[in-house]
Amino acid sequence: MPELPEVETIKNQLTPILPFKIEAAVFSPLTKRMVKQMDFDPTNFTITKIRRHAKWLIFELSPYGYILSHLGMSGSWQMSHAPLAEKHGHIEFIDKSKAQFGVLTYIDPRRFGHFYLLTNENFKIKEDALPIDITSPDFDVDHIAEIFFKYPNKPIKPFLLDQKAFPGVGNYMASEICARAGILPTRLTGNIEADEIQKIKDAMNVVVNGAVETKGTTFSGGYRDANGDKGEGVKHLVVFYQNHCQMCLEEGIVTKVIKTIQGGRGTYHCPRHQK
Ligand SMILES: [Zn+2]
Repeated sequence: MPELPEVETIKNQLTPILPFKIEAAVFSPLTKRMVKQMDFDPTNFTITKIRRHAKWLIFELSPYGYILSHLGMSGSWQMSHAPLAEKHGHIEFIDKSKAQFGVLTYIDPRRFGHFYLLTNENFKIKEDALPIDITSPDFDVDHIAEIFFKYPNKPIKPFLLDQKAFPGVGNYMASEICARAGILPTRLTGNIEADEIQKIKDAMNVVVNGAVETKGTTFSGGYRDANGDKGEGVKHLVVFYQNHCQMCLEEGIVTKVIKTIQGGRGTYHCPRHQK
């Protein structure tokens, strides 16, 4: 599933092709279920900027309006020179004036992605309701402490997957954040000390930045970036899907990673690094 680093990667890759004038907008019949709100037809509007908030891509349009795109389980936006012969392509924007990357295609085999095409007014209402992004300066140690204080009885690792509290954190990231922060995945939020909250914040930065640098993390059959390529983020993982803790290996010590199931999701941790 595309998580925050993967959505950030797609944003970074699409940005150089802007401005993109939507001279033609083609929607497949299957997008009816995916387009949740369409205040206007985007034909002849220009995408001037793309930003990310949590796992939302926000396309700013000129002369007005916004497209909000959530990639769901398997969505991606891909740029190409010619229309893609892609059976899971659901939206196609075409800018004929471009010598290259004049086609922007939304591809989503599982079709859990969704869209809103909103006027400025309706966008503002939607944006104000979004939770604070974990990479925002407002998502600081105090903010995390406040969340833990409010929900003190949550095992930390599954709680990191709560999209209202930690928007954009996915399963692999949650295991990696706990590992790099040195915290056992089963620890309760109420028992996490102030210096450990700082370690969680630092670990979040390392995990997000590492994954963005390698253009996202692709597991079997999963996410593709805007060029249709797999991300290389798997190389950065220290415990997730690993037999041995990579942090221990760096110290010349071999420690077997322990796999457990928490809240129905696979959790990986290092018994030596995590207390
Ligand atoms: Zn270790």
